[in-house]
Amino acid sequence: TQKIIIVGGVGGGATVAAQIRRTDKDSDILLFDKCGYISFANCGMPYHIGGKVKKRDNLLYPVEKFNHKYDVEVRTNSEVLSINRQKKSIQYNADGIINEESYDKLILSPGATPIVPNVDGIKNSRTFTLRTIEDMDRINAFIKNAKPTKTTIVGAGFIGLEMLENLHSLKLECTIIDRSPQLIKNVDEDMAAIIQEHLEEKDVEVILNDGLESFHNDGKTLRLNSGKKIDTDMTILAIGIKPNTKLAIDASLDLGNTGAISVNEYMQTTDPDIYALGDAVEVRDFLTGSPKQIALAWPAHRQAYIISSHLNGDTVPYRGNLGSSILKVFDLTVAATGHNSTSLQEEGIIFQHTVLSSYSHAAYYPGSKKIWIKIFYNEDTGLLYGANVVGYEGVDKRMAVLATAIKGKLTVADLPELELGYSPVYSSSKDPINVVGYKALSELNK
Ligand code: FAD
Repeated sequence: TQKIIIVGGVGGGATVAAQIRRTDKDSDILLFDKCGYISFANCGMPYHIGGKVKKRDNLLYPVEKFNHKYDVEVRTNSEVLSINRQKKSIQYNADGIINEESYDKLILSPGATPIVPNVDGIKNSRTFTLRTIEDMDRINAFIKNAKPTKTTIVGAGFIGLEMLENLHSLKLECTIIDRSPQLIKNVDEDMAAIIQEHLEEKDVEVILNDGLESFHNDGKTLRLNSGKKIDTDMTILAIGIKPNTKLAIDASLDLGNTGAISVNEYMQTTDPDIYALGDAVEVRDFLTGSPKQIALAWPAHRQAYIISSHLNGDTVPYRGNLGSSILKVFDLTVAATGHNSTSLQEEGIIFQHTVLSSYSHAAYYPGSKKIWIKIFYNEDTGLLYGANVVGYEGVDKRMAVLATAIKGKLTVADLPELELGYSPVYSSSKDPINVVGYKALSELNK
């Protein structure tokens, strides 16, 4: 038997603990988290704030239950301060008392921290970030007590847009600001324009090409780089995250080019007895092998499996990421997998694209809605590089098919061959996926 210590008890940490226990009944597993909660549903937090997920408890996993189910010793409110690689031990702070614990294997899943820019007035009582249950509780308490009527979201990525929708559903007047020229950067500009139009239909004020300059009046006024002033009752900052790498740096573990923790294909850091996973690690692009950082739940779960297999003596390699993502923005669903125009240009890859505007299912059957599919591929071989899908219905299915096609190394010529199941309720006899393939082929043959 061995002693396994895990740092971080949520997306990656709790998952790897549970995953190890499935096959290893004997090892001692200790799980540390500096916060008061473990294994909570962070992805559900915006929806609890908006009232869709009514019960706070439904986001939580009680420590005793986790301990009982997986036989894992859980230590919450216990921050791991340092790693001593020679002694194979960690130091941690539990309620002000510094303790030490030895390990045979150490697994780091410390996640990431929301970026808070160093601008004047940022420390005020009305500006929030969202990462932990404690953050969510602070936002909920503010909404309950201060009764804001106007909110500003800074950053139009996943968390910004999810918070926007949920605060809007509480009848707050909403403004969203991003310094880049488009909303949500993992889709192309033409797809992002569809989202922008939809937000404007919902009476959201969208401000692009403008960044946060300073806060005034205890956060009640925001000044932007353009000089524009915005009055607000509360602000959500969602401008990105930085991986938590301090423990790794202090222990002289290597970081990768992106600044996240470097790991091999079995998720081992430069010390083979220390693994790392989740938002804190650098991964490889599935198609190009380029280093990247991806803060999503699927990678953390897959990496947990890779680590538990490796501890068990199996060598299943981690194959890298497409970074498939999906997001609800009011009535729209926005999904992306693999590359888009910007990322392909950044990688110096020459590509072709095809855009299809179609319908989610047969137009004569009620409820048919518009869907836009954009695919990116190699001009010579037709190999798929990526896809963006935006629409109201059936977006998740089209994106899942395309993500599978890319991982299976399919080409545009394979898309018309896919038999995806048809009834007018769900699709058309030629599914939009088939049609975008035919369209790409005809464009290639021009
Ligand atoms: P986390 O889950 O954040 O866990 C890290 C934990 O480590 C934290 O609890 C932290 O307290 C602890 N910790 C850090 N340092 C120490 C230390 N020194 N000692 C002890 N403990 C420490 N992904 C999706 O794919 N789909 C979604 O819809 C989605 N929605 C999201 C919504 C929100 C609001 C947020 C915040 C994230 C969302 N994500 C989503 C991202 C997903 O939740 C993360 O990618 C995933 O949780 C990463 O797991 P992790 O273990 O790396 O980090």
